[in-house]
Amino acid sequence: MSVSGAEYTRRIKQQINEVDPSEVHQLVTAPNGAANGNGRHNGDSPLVGVAIVDVRETDEYSVGHLPGAKHVPRGYLESRIEGAVPDRSQRVILYCASGNRSALAAHTLEQELGYENVESMTGGITLWKDRGYEVEVPRTFTPEQRERYSRHFLLPEVGIEGQQKLLDAKVLLLGAGGLGSPTALYLAAAGVGTLGIIDNDVVDLSNLQRQVIHTTDRIGTPKVDSAETSIKAINPDVDVVKYKTRLDASNIMEIIDGYDVIVDGVDNFPTRYLLNDATVRLGIPVVSASILGFDGQLSVFKPHDGPCYRCLYPVPPPAELAPSCGANGVLGVLPGTMGLLQATEVIKLVTGAGEPLVGRLLLYEALGATFTELKVRRDPQCEICSKDPSEISDDELGVFPDYEAFCAAAG
Ligand SMILES: [Zn+2]
Repeated sequence: MSVSGAEYTRRIKQQINEVDPSEVHQLVTAPNGAANGNGRHNGDSPLVGVAIVDVRETDEYSVGHLPGAKHVPRGYLESRIEGAVPDRSQRVILYCASGNRSALAAHTLEQELGYENVESMTGGITLWKDRGYEVEVPRTFTPEQRERYSRHFLLPEVGIEGQQKLLDAKVLLLGAGGLGSPTALYLAAAGVGTLGIIDNDVVDLSNLQRQVIHTTDRIGTPKVDSAETSIKAINPDVDVVKYKTRLDASNIMEIIDGYDVIVDGVDNFPTRYLLNDATVRLGIPVVSASILGFDGQLSVFKPHDGPCYRCLYPVPPPAELAPSCGANGVLGVLPGTMGLLQATEVIKLVTGAGEPLVGRLLLYEALGATFTELKVRRDPQCEICSKDPSEISDDELGVFPDYEAFCAAAG
């Protein structure tokens, strides 16, 4: 007969020993260092060595843990506990976030692995912190980083954990142009650890009205090099990966694989379709924006969580509306506005803060200063995202009419 998870945990807790955080706190703060976790008996001290083991996931542990705690994630309990606690007769105290996972782990240690003296700390590290007891935070930030990102640390939605995620994040920018410039600058400032940039162009004088990552003295320089110079000047923490090429069907899978988020600022529809199909196949979210004149559009395409680009635009718009078919006017600050909205969505996706713009299309009209939001639903018949990702073949990536012909039709 099956039982609910909560009921199962409750029954397990009746079969194991639990220990209150106050008792663990005494062990941790004992002057003889009984909780050093090395398992040795401590001379004449009545206290026997205690191993305190954190069974949470790595990202939880790295944010802060009990002083001296060893880390054995519950998923690796069977394979790693012997390395951490070789002596099965030693006292072992397990804890997690709230006391449930550690109760299950304690049961496993006793029943399956033969540990004789196992306890689970009630309430986990949450109750520990509520009592005001000390938490050890791994020193993963340099003093320079602590100062640089101090305003992020002050936001609970970002904090140390979110900043660590940003530093670990790999974000790919399609283009170092109007949208890519502000996005790259602010993501660099925010401490995104790896910024990939794809751009095949060189800096042109006519770019400088809006492409603020470039400078007058870099006219004629490849945009990827110019962008790297500006990014490094802002934040040396950022690793810049340059792709001086054009994204196409022959290189897309190789380039985008391994990135956490892709920022799409390309101005042509064939590349948008190609990017969409490839990212749906690989499960990479895309923060997409486009601009024309005084109008901007923004959405987040998170594969299988929401609609994809083809759900929104099953067929390309009429060629005469395709921005890349010729030079179009654009208000210089408009890509700044839209690019920073993109950067904001990237940070939300990476840190998990807030509600990303999935399944929503945001329209900005600069002259009227209006924002409009439209709901976008997944198309159950969508040629790409209705399929299992493994069934999307190379032949189906970026299927689109011939682009030269497409633009020629615009007259
Ligand atoms: Zn779709």
